[in-house]
Amino acid sequence: MPVRVLDHDTYESAGQPGDVCVTTHHGSDAVAGYLMRCPGCGQESYLPLDPSPGARWTVTAGDPRTGTGLTLSPSVWHRVPSCGWHGWVRDGRWVPC
Ligand SMILES: [Zn+2]
Repeated sequence: MPVRVLDHDTYESAGQPGDVCVTTHHGSDAVAGYLMRCPGCGQESYLPLDPSPGARWTVTAGDPRTGTGLTLSPSVWHRVPSCGWHGWVRDGRWVPC
């Protein structure tokens, strides 16, 4: 499943499971993280990117603005009993474990 990076309006109105939306730091263009819809169940979560406060994920390859070639570390795990999706963002795609 591709990681589609949508603008905020499109994400809010028409986002599908696996879609993300870039968030930036106030007063800055730097990518702070992604609002994301779980590729498994579509529930929204947030991925804070290094070096944001509390960040857990690092961009190890690709373009964080467009999603082209995007690779994140570590894996993403939706740790709720109703879903449990676990996988990686690799080369612009969601790849289940
Ligand atoms: Zn889920």
